[in-house]
Amino acid sequence: MKELFHGIRCVFLDRDGVLNRKAAEGSYIGRWIDFHLLPGVEAAIAALNRSGRRVIVVSNQRGVALGLYTPADVEAIHAHLEQHLAAHGARIDAFYYCPHDLEECDCRKPKTGLFRQAFRDFPENSAENSLVVGDSLSDIEAARNLGMPSIFIEGDADTRKSGADRASEYADAVAGSLAEAVTLLD
Ligand SMILES: [Mg+2]
Ligand SMILES: [Zn+2]
Repeated sequence: MKELFHGIRCVFLDRDGVLNRKAAEGSYIGRWIDFHLLPGVEAAIAALNRSGRRVIVVSNQRGVALGLYTPADVEAIHAHLEQHLAAHGARIDAFYYCPHDLEECDCRKPKTGLFRQAFRDFPENSAENSLVVGDSLSDIEAARNLGMPSIFIEGDADTRKSGADRASEYADAVAGSLAEAVTLLD
């Protein structure tokens, strides 16, 4: 495992289901009041920060395209999250999200536009030194599409998504939480 993830300098985190409890299938999180961090997330991000790795959130936010919330709402959640993390000595270096509907852009995961944008903004990072942590098949497929290793976060049986079996198979490792995933890195 340590060999597998050797040389990782940048960790891409999916948001819903990795940082915060994901909404029921078909529901979306558009307000901070509905954003519930999962246990150990602050400490896990702080550990990544201390290790000198870049931490980037990449998120599909189709709720914008569906008119359920606005880009300003997404950004307000991210601002609250940053504030909350700062109080715990943790920091996310950048957020990227796709506000589009299915099949209308090149950034909705499993497409790779969000990652390619991040690599343009942080030229010292690339698919060669990055890792993806996600709880959806689309996260793991996006990683594969760029040749990046990935860790699949397995949800509870009751919120387990379709595609979880394939995601477990494609991913380089499976973990129960971000906190557990981070322990695989060092
Ligand atoms: Mg997710
Ligand atoms: Zn998009």
